[in-house]
Formats: sequence, C-alpha cells, structure tokens
Amino acid sequence: MKPHFVLVPLMAQGHMIPMVELAQLIAGRGDGVLVTLITTPLNATRLKTTMDRFDRSGLAIRLVSLPFPCKEAGLPEGCENIDVIASMGLAVNFFKATSLMRQPLETYLREHKHYPSCIISDSCHPWTWDVARSLQIPRFTFFSICCFTLLCTHNIASHNVFDTITSEREPFLVPGLQDRIEVTQEQAPGFFYGDLWAKLREEIRAADEAAEGVVVNSFRELEPWYVENFQKAMGNKVWTLGPFSLCNKDVSHMTARGNDAAIDENRCMRWLDSMKPRTVVYVSFGSLTFTSPSQLMEVGLGLEASQQAFIWVIKEVELCQEMTEWLGEAGGFEERVKTKGLIIRGWAPQMMILSHPAIGGFVTHCGWNSLMEAISMGLPVITWPHFADQFLNERLIVDVLRTGVPVGVDVPVTWGLETSHVYVTRDGVERAVTSLMDGGEEGAQRRERARQVSVTAKKAMEQGGSSYENITMFIQQFSHHPAPAPAV
Ligand code: UDP
Repeated sequence: MKPHFVLVPLMAQGHMIPMVELAQLIAGRGDGVLVTLITTPLNATRLKTTMDRFDRSGLAIRLVSLPFPCKEAGLPEGCENIDVIASMGLAVNFFKATSLMRQPLETYLREHKHYPSCIISDSCHPWTWDVARSLQIPRFTFFSICCFTLLCTHNIASHNVFDTITSEREPFLVPGLQDRIEVTQEQAPGFFYGDLWAKLREEIRAADEAAEGVVVNSFRELEPWYVENFQKAMGNKVWTLGPFSLCNKDVSHMTARGNDAAIDENRCMRWLDSMKPRTVVYVSFGSLTFTSPSQLMEVGLGLEASQQAFIWVIKEVELCQEMTEWLGEAGGFEERVKTKGLIIRGWAPQMMILSHPAIGGFVTHCGWNSLMEAISMGLPVITWPHFADQFLNERLIVDVLRTGVPVGVDVPVTWGLETSHVYVTRDGVERAVTSLMDGGEEGAQRRERARQVSVTAKKAMEQGGSSYENITMFIQQFSHHPAPAPAV
C-alpha cells in the first residue's frame, strides 16, 4: 500500500506556501509516495501554476478542492483566504467555515481508492482531529512557527506569568529558558487570545495535545535547545523538516510561489543583475499586514535618505489614491529614487529576490516564513514586528541568533484595526537601514553570522542532513503500515 499523506493547510499565504512546499518535499522522495493537498476553489486557482509544474515534473501531488461554505458561515462570497478578510468579526466566521469542511473531507477520503496513511493538518484546523479519529489514522499538527516561539508561548502560559504582572506593557522574562528573553504581554499574548476566540483556542489545544506529533518548518541546528525542550513540553515528537523553501531549486520555481507576481520576472532579474553584490535592501511586510499611507511614506523617505539601493513591496490594498499620487507624478517619489529603488505594487517574487546575490539585507515584519527565507539565504534583517508570533520571532533573531537589527517597535498593531499611527519615523528607518547595510565591525560580524546560519540550513536539507533524514524517517513510519479498515 502506498503511503498517502493528506495535507490540510490553513488558507493564508503564510500557511499555504510552506504546506505546498512540504508536499513537494514528501512527494519528491518518490518511492510510490502519494500526497493530497486539500484546499478550496479560489485557493486552487492561485495554486494552478504550481500544480501544473508538479504535474510536469511527475510529482504525485493531487490538489483536492472542497467547497467552502461562505454563505452558511455568514461570510461574503469569495472570502476563502485570510488575506481577503477585512475584520476580526469576519475572521471568526472564516474559522467557522473551515470547520464545516469536516464532513466533505471525511467523505472524500473514505471514497478515495488510496486510503490515507495520516493527516498533516495546520494547527488552526482542530476539526481535522475528528476526521482522523473517524478514519482511524494519525493526525500530525503543523505549525508555521519556530520551536523558540512555541516554547516561549507554552512557558508563559504554563507559568501563569500574566497573573504576576500589573500591566500588559510591563516587560517580563520568559520563564524556563536558557536565554534571557524579555517581552510584554501585549507582544506575546498567546495565539487566539481574547474571549472572541475562547472556543477555537480550546479546540486547538485539545487537538494539538492529542496529535501523533508536531511538524515544523525549522531545522534542528537552528534552535537545538528549543526543539528539544518544546518536544519535552509537548510530550510529543517534534519533526523539524525545514527550511521548506529550499525545495525550490531553480528561479522559475522560486518565482511561482503563492500568488502571481505583480512584476515581470525578467524585469526584476535584470534590475537585480545591474546591482553590485550585497548592496540592495529588500523591504516587505508579508501577506497580512496593512500599512497606512503615513507610515508607508516614512518608510519611503527613510529608504531615500539612507541612499541604499532597495526593492520595496507595497500591497495592492495599500495603494489608495493618496499613496499612488505620492509615489507617482504628483509626489515624485518614484522618479526621485529611480536609479536606486524598485517599487513592486502587489505580490513580489520574494524567494527569487532574496536568493539573488545583489540582496544584502531584508526589512521584515518577522513572519516566520520570511525569517526562514532570510536565514536560508544568509541575510541579516531589520526586524519590524507587527502582531501574532512576530515579536517573539524577533527575539530569536535579535537575541539568540544575533542576525537582526531591531527597528525599535515595541507596541503591536491590531490586525483589522490598523490606524494611521506612525510607529517608525523616516529617521528610524534610515538609521536601521544604514546600520544593517554597513554597521562597521558589528555589521560585518552580523553578516558573517547570517552566512554561517545559511550554511547549516542548506546542509540540513541535503542528503545526510538533519531535516533530510527526518523527512526520510517521517515517510518510512508509514511505508510498511497496512491501512486500517475504514470505520463504519
Ligand atoms: N510572500 C511573497 N511575496 C509577497 C509577500 C509574501 O512571496 O509579496 C511570501 C513570503 O515569501 C512568505 C509568505 O509569503 O513565504 C509570507 O509568510 P510570512 O510567515 O513571512 O508572513 P505572513 O504573510 O504569514 O504574515
């Protein structure tokens, strides 16, 4: 019986991209391995280019698109990905809609001729536990987060730290760690905090506790103490199988990730080729943050003042009239910086850009995928966290790996309730960029640490490396298992 892995990603780019790459890593081992990726119709359209490529290279990855019950969950039609959801209230409905995929998924898997060996489910889909139980197969929980942040979050909760502080802005030391890590409640409140999320939070906790194991996009050498201690804390095997993005070996694969790029690949490549090695700073805040025009303008002016070459990604939703005018003829920004700056309006081919030798640094919101991509490419970063796991991820980069310069943001943005507040002025942006790209002896040492970490990352993914061997073992545990009889 072929081992058959069923992957259920959360429909958000920061969760889907790594799961699609995990599918590629598993199916890439051949040996009759079969992978099914579960998604919804609109997300399937976004994945079309990638799936066509998988077909051409003969990878046994099948995309299964289940209907997404927007109407039943009180969502406007077409809200199939978190990046199109406009408010926290609708986000609750979005998670309700995902849970309604339970029955269709179970029916599909029962009827398919290759009975599944296991489900690898995003941790945000606790309902997949019911499917796994009913089919009598194991469920692994996937976190799009590193073990450092997972362990910090676990320890803060298990030591009841929030009962001991007087304000959500009071800094405290995360208990039970080998490093001195200081955060505030506001920066690290735990996932799905607040009454609105109490039910889902509890369901996720129970499903994670019952999981057969944990899959993370990290590698052992990056955070050995944290992998080991998170494993102990969970009482469960933690499978470090990354960095997943290193499965993209050539430029066309790096370009076709997530959404269609908003810039012509050749134009972008020519621009990068015209720059000297390690001189360009790449600025992007991932797929979910929203930056106001006033803050965007400070970023632009800071980049201009730094006199560094840059690629700056501005999302489509951020391109209001005011911003478009400021960039264009009326404001003249793009014209002023045209010899040094490339502005991408919309989705950027991030992996392709980061892997180019001209890139020397990355201003990032500290989403875990972006950080893993920077780590893999040996890039020092400017950390500018916004929300969720990002403030803790920043601590790993700044305090533990020491490959990052903090831009100095202490207070999180509330997703869905962004204001026109300016968190970092142009001077702050200029200072951080100058220190990252030059920074004298300290900067040189930071670049060298980043380079060394990328060597370990690449080794982990090569034959004999820790993640490579973990993928082998992960697959092997299902190679000789007879599929259980379907429960009636
Ligand atoms: N990404 C991209 N182009 C963009 C924005 C994002 O390719 O214009 C990719 C990025 O490479 C990463 C993912 O989208 O793989 C974003 O995940 P991350 O965890 O960094 O942030 P999130 O979007 O989840 O906040």
